[in-house]
Amino acid sequence: MDSITTPFQRQLYRLPWSTTDNPIGWVEITDICNIHCDGCYRLVLGEGHKPLQKVKDEIDFLIKWRNCDGISLAGGEPILHPHIAEIIQHISGRGVKSLILSNGYALSEDLLRKLKKAGLTGISFHIDSTQTRPEFKKQKIAKESDMDALRLECAQRLKKVGGIYSHFGITVNRDNLHEVPDFIQWGVDNMDVVNGISLITHRGLPVMDGVDYHAGGRKIDMKEDTLGYTITPDKMNVASVSSKEVYAVIKARFPGYDASAYLNGTMDHGSMKWLIGNLITDNKGRVFGAYGSRTMELAQTLHHLWFGKYLVYPKVKMGRRIFFMGLFDPKVRSAFKQYLGHCLGNPLRFLHPVKAIGIGVIQAPDVLPDGRIDMCDSCPDMCIHDGKLVNSCRLDECRKFGMLLNASVGSEQAREALERQRPGVTEQALEQH
Ligand code: SF4
Repeated sequence: MDSITTPFQRQLYRLPWSTTDNPIGWVEITDICNIHCDGCYRLVLGEGHKPLQKVKDEIDFLIKWRNCDGISLAGGEPILHPHIAEIIQHISGRGVKSLILSNGYALSEDLLRKLKKAGLTGISFHIDSTQTRPEFKKQKIAKESDMDALRLECAQRLKKVGGIYSHFGITVNRDNLHEVPDFIQWGVDNMDVVNGISLITHRGLPVMDGVDYHAGGRKIDMKEDTLGYTITPDKMNVASVSSKEVYAVIKARFPGYDASAYLNGTMDHGSMKWLIGNLITDNKGRVFGAYGSRTMELAQTLHHLWFGKYLVYPKVKMGRRIFFMGLFDPKVRSAFKQYLGHCLGNPLRFLHPVKAIGIGVIQAPDVLPDGRIDMCDSCPDMCIHDGKLVNSCRLDECRKFGMLLNASVGSEQAREALERQRPGVTEQALEQH
């Protein structure tokens, strides 16, 4: 038996979100897209753009049942929806924030101005090396940094229009894991136009001998192209990075980095499905430290007390005021000491703006060696299908088979193969950081 140590989770704040009191609701407004991404969760099933009234009904349902602070609009590529401005207007009319998840390709300045007028809160851009994009004449992109110029162009377009939060996300797999710190450094270097970064680990349902899937009692003939998120044995190693590994890679480059909050798995008590943090940085690319659990706890609790709902996509720019949190939060206190030491070395540095950049790591579904599927507990990205809340990452199972599938693992080889792709970072290794 392991010696008794404090789990990594205990150092962090467990976000208090639940199915019916959750700051995020997710609406898929189209299944049409204008680029291709490896590991995309959505199949084009010919449903096209969702009718405007249906989108509004889904938004109202989520606000009513989830107590949302923000609605995420996804797809497909949401900005292709002909009524995107009216959809944003409907959300802001309900007093809720809106976030569009976009690949940025069709986002013109004109459209941005319309969206801003409609009350858009932010855009989360998905631009990464797993994509086949028209800007690159459909050629595969070799490395993450090849996309930095395009990312910056999108961020600057947002800055020009003003008042819209910008977020950048990539899919992390074994091939680009080593590039994660450079991607974060890019965000830090461009802190005047980048508000947050998300790192979503590539996941899927394995298609292999010995693993069967059922919809109710009906066996599914699962093939590589049955769903957009199937993983064949040759790709299992690439799609096996855990959020703890991502954490360790970031920590190795930025010792001041820490996560402050998490969501665990529904099945595996040790898994970290969401790992949220904020780096405190200046506009010269210098990292001073990070928020600790106390800052997150206070932000969530006070927001719930004051506004009656948990917080997402904060609009307030804290700047140097964040250091007041050092009164309650030892991690911010230590960031403040770093900052002070840095500025006393050259007092002109007091003039450099300070900002916190959000870093979110998400480890999507894992099929465990015993066939159970480990999801994000209190899944924030739930959408509606047929009047029921379902995890949006597995929506296509509902679209194709009417329900989420169950998996069963029937051979020792399959069990071993699934075991081999389990997270490669131990609790002890995390504690050493
Ligand atoms: S379980 Fe929910 S939060 Fe987690 S990856 Fe799936 S949709 Fe996203």
